[in-house]
Order: sequence, then C-alpha cells, then structure tokens
Amino acid sequence: MSTKIETRCIHLENDQDHPYGAISYPIFQTATYAHPGVGQSTGFDYSRHKNPTRDHLEKIVASLENGTEAFAYSSGMSAIATVMELFVPGDHLIVEEDLYGGSIRLFDHVNKKNGISFSNVDVANEDVELYFQENTKAIFIETPTNPMMHIVDIEKMAEIAHAHSALLIVDNTFLSPYLQNPLDFGADIVIHSGTKYLSGHNDTLSGFVIVKDEELAEKIGFISKTTGPMISPFDAWLVTRGIQTLSVRMRVAQENAWTIANWLLEQDVIENVFYPGLETHPGHDLMKKQARGFGAMLSFHVKTQKIAHGILENIQLIQYAESLGGTESLLTYPLTQTHADVSKELRDKNGVTETLLRMSVGLENVEDIILDLKQAIEKAKEN
Ligand code: PLP
Repeated sequence: MSTKIETRCIHLENDQDHPYGAISYPIFQTATYAHPGVGQSTGFDYSRHKNPTRDHLEKIVASLENGTEAFAYSSGMSAIATVMELFVPGDHLIVEEDLYGGSIRLFDHVNKKNGISFSNVDVANEDVELYFQENTKAIFIETPTNPMMHIVDIEKMAEIAHAHSALLIVDNTFLSPYLQNPLDFGADIVIHSGTKYLSGHNDTLSGFVIVKDEELAEKIGFISKTTGPMISPFDAWLVTRGIQTLSVRMRVAQENAWTIANWLLEQDVIENVFYPGLETHPGHDLMKKQARGFGAMLSFHVKTQKIAHGILENIQLIQYAESLGGTESLLTYPLTQTHADVSKELRDKNGVTETLLRMSVGLENVEDIILDLKQAIEKAKEN
C-alpha cells in the first residue's frame, strides 16, 4: 500500500516482522550475533555492519526522503565526515558559503589537510559555473542556508553539477524530510543532522545520509562499516520515536514561526528578518516550488549589539542555546556559537555579525513566545 508521508513517519511499508508483535520496535542492544551454522547468518553478524534497531530507523528515513538507502550516524557531523570520505586528494568541491559553521570547520581544518580544496560560493546568487575546475567533484549546499536563510534552487544545482559529472549534496536539516525532499529534484546525496527535527526533542545526537543510487549506497556503506561512525541502538530507538511526531511538530512549529516573523517585523529594535515564509523574502517563490512549507527557523538583525546581548540575557521561556529543531524555542548567537570558527571575513560577508540572532521556533503557545520576546526586548532597551 502506498502511503502518505505522515503515515510513513509512523509505519514502514510492508513492515510485519516486529518480534512478538511489539508495537514499538525493540532496542537490540547487542554488539554481535550467533551464527546458525558454518557459513550461515541470520542477516546480522556484527552491529557495526548492521543492527536491527538501526536498520529499522534507516528504512524509515530512506522512505521519508524517497531514497533507496539511508545510513544512520551518531551525529550530523559524522554523517558529513563520512560523505567527505568519498573524495580523494586533488578533488575540489564548490560549497555554499553560508553553511553551518561546523561543516565549514570540517572542510577547512580536516578535509583541506587531506588534499581536498574548496571554493566558498554564494550559490543562491552567484554564477556557480564560474567556479568549476577540471577536478570539481561536488556541489555542497544547504537550503535554507544556516543562518542567513538563502534559498538555493536544488533542481538547477543538480543540472549544473551533473553537466560536470559532479554530485549534488544537500544538507536538508533545516526543513526535515517532511517539508523538502532534495532527491526528487535531482540531488545525489541528502544529509541530515538528525539531532534537530528528526529526533525533535533536544535530547539525542544523530545524523543521516540518504541516497537513491545503488553504487553510491555501496560506497557509503563500505566507508561506514569500515570507519564505524554509526548511531547506537538506543539512540536509534529514540530517533525512531521522535520521527513518529515529525509531521505534527513541523506543522505547529512553522505556524508559530510565521506568526513570530511577522511580529518581529513590527518591532522598532529589529533591522531585518530573514524568514522564507515572508512574501518579501527573495527565496519565497522558489521555496514554494521545491518545498512543502517554509520551516520554523528564522534569523534577524537587531539594531545594536547591546540589544542582541540584552535579548539573550533576558529571555526566560526561550532558551539561549545552540541547536534547533526541538520542542523548545531556542535563540542562538551565531557569531560566538555555531559560526565561531568561520573566518571573520566570511562571517562579515554573509552578515553573521554581532547583531544577528537565530531562532529555532518551538511548540510552545505562540503568544507565550511573543510575550517572552517582548519583555526581553523591553529590558534590552532599558539596560
Ligand atoms: N548541518 C546543519 C545544518 C546543522 O545545523 C548542524 C548542527 O547544528 C549540523 C549539520 C551538524 O549536526 P550535529 O550537531 O548533529 O553533528
């Protein structure tokens, strides 16, 4: 039976093998498996290679992203680091310049020393063709980007990448598979920090790589079982549980985000609001084409550094913390948190300054969130 995405968050298609009819798929907390006989296997030999709880989660995530295979890792960064193992010394990648700071740190401080080179490009606005070299093997993007919320045309990027026999890699963390499926628009590899919307409760680190192509799946599977960055059975179970409510969480969070973005626009301490759900956002129409919603992440510049600090110090319900995608609303200060290790030059170019705040809108009552922002802004103005 072909089912809709809300159903696939909860039920795997053709899933009949839960032991003892357990409704919640069990945690197989085992490192290894007994063989029935010489040369025989139950299908599970050693948990670095395959574990039933992880396998169950991977099938769910593959189905949500319309992929053929998914790989579950201990964090988003271990997912990205695994994908980077596809490349060899001498390879070159074009990467969106406004990426999660940890991805830029990985490229600059780990992959570069292994002989891989990068061009940081404003992919949403520049002519990407100009940056291709003989040895360019991939374009790496996020859309929306973190934290400036640029929207990149996935289909166009896939066409350009493929014309050069390169891969398109999309970090889909900010929207989750509930709102966007980059493989449907030609992307070759989708990545998630499952720590965010997929697990959804700010309690578990996880990461995913999803592909359609069998050859790519084989390569990634080989790297994974060789280097061992996979998620533990217990964490896999937690993420499976989180995904069951993904659709309802995303709907409420994005409704709240839309209300907050519009409210922020009217506040005198706000310089500008970056939320693609606003009709004035330059990526609004493109987003309608390639996503099923606008998500619950937004960022905004306030007028002064004093106001930015004052808001962070005075919020009460909203937490001043790094991360996103959980039930709790969080405010992040990209300058000193997520993007602290990005060069000042790149931060300044992108607008990641002392007046930028990023908000992950949660599931609290939106009036309570706004009241908290309001009182924090008032106090920030007084101090
Ligand atoms: N990708 C994006 C867009 C992120 O925001 C993050 C973390 O914030 C990551 C990847 C890394 O994920 P993790 O923290 O699970 O390693």
